[in-house]
Amino acid sequence: MDGKLKLLNPYKIRAKEICCSYCSLSYSKEDYKSLFNSRKLIYFRALDSKLFKRNEKICHSCFLALANEEPLSFEIETDNFVVGLEIDPDSGNGGSDDLIDGLIT
Ligand SMILES: [Zn+2]
Repeated sequence: MDGKLKLLNPYKIRAKEICCSYCSLSYSKEDYKSLFNSRKLIYFRALDSKLFKRNEKICHSCFLALANEEPLSFEIETDNFVVGLEIDPDSGNGGSDDLIDGLIT
């Protein structure tokens, strides 16, 4: 297990703006709501992980870029459920659409 991430729900976050710690992709909460609703972008917050610092924000494309380099095993917490995620670059990961579709219900 490489760690735990929390899916950041734009309707629950307090910050006015959200920024990825890795690529510096940054959006206002309102923009994030639209992107989240159209399933184009999700951000995670690191809860407990060997790969990320605690509370670091990661956009899904940076997360998947890491998963292209090495197999990852994560637990992702959403507001409603916790899901185990195994991504293995050799067997081909599902890509961002599958990732997002599995997490936004
Ligand atoms: Zn990023």
